[in-house]
Amino acid sequence: MKSRNCEIVLDLLPNYIEKLTSQGTNEFVEEHMQECTDCKTVYEGMKTEIQTEQMPEVKEFGRFLKGIKKKYVHILEVIALAIGMIGVATCFIVDIAMNRALTWSLIVLGSVLMLYVPGYVLLAEKKNRIGKTLAVLSVLILPYLCVMQYVLERSFSIEGAWFQTYACPIVAIWLVFAWMVYVEVRIVKWNVFFHIAFACLLAIPANVQTNIVAGSLSGWNEFGTAFMEVGFGNVAAVLLCVIIGFIYCGKQK
Ligand SMILES: [Zn+2]
Repeated sequence: MKSRNCEIVLDLLPNYIEKLTSQGTNEFVEEHMQECTDCKTVYEGMKTEIQTEQMPEVKEFGRFLKGIKKKYVHILEVIALAIGMIGVATCFIVDIAMNRALTWSLIVLGSVLMLYVPGYVLLAEKKNRIGKTLAVLSVLILPYLCVMQYVLERSFSIEGAWFQTYACPIVAIWLVFAWMVYVEVRIVKWNVFFHIAFACLLAIPANVQTNIVAGSLSGWNEFGTAFMEVGFGNVAAVLLCVIIGFIYCGKQK
C-alpha cells in the first residue's frame, strides 16, 4: 500500500542511511517504517548495499594503518640495532681498558646475539615465526654456552665442569620441553588454556630433571618428598587452566 509518505521516505532513505538527515526527519522515517513493511524492506536492502559499497574505503584505511605500523617497526628495529651496537662497542672498550684483554665482553656480545637474532627472526618472518625462532635459538645456544665456558675458564679460572655438568643438560631439558610444547600446539586444536595446562604439566618432569642435574634432588625417588617444591604449583596451574578452558569452551557454544 504505497502512499505519499512512502515516496517521501524512499527519497530520504539514502541520506538517512548515511546519517545525513535531521533528528525530525529520522523520527518521521522510523515511525513510517514501523507501519510500512514495504519501505522497511527497501531500507534493509539499501543499507547492506551502501555498507558493502563503503567497505573498500575501510579496507584502504586498514592498509594505510598497517603501512604506518610497518614503517614504525622498521624505525624501532634500526634504533634497537644501534643501541645494541653502541652497547657492545662500549663493553669491548671498557673490558680492554680494565683487563687489557677481552674477557667478559665476549659474553655480552654472545648475549646480545642470543637476543637479537631470534628477536629479528620473530619480527621479520611471516609464516611459522615461532617455529623458526625456536630453531634459531636451539642452534645458537650451543656456541653461546661454549663462549661462556671459554670465558669462565680463561678469565675466571672456573674449570670445565660447569659446561658438561650443568649448562648443557639443563639447556637440553628445556629445549626438549619447548619443542614438545611447540609441536603440541601445532598439532592439537585446543583452546589456549588447555595448551597452557599441557605446558605446565610437562614442566613438572622438566623441573624435576633440572633439580636432579643441579644437585638439589638426588633422583626421581625424591619427587614425592619434594612435591611441594617442584610439582605442587604446576599441578595447581594445570587444574586452574583446565577449569578455565572448560568454562571458555562452554561459553563459546
Ligand atoms: Zn512506505
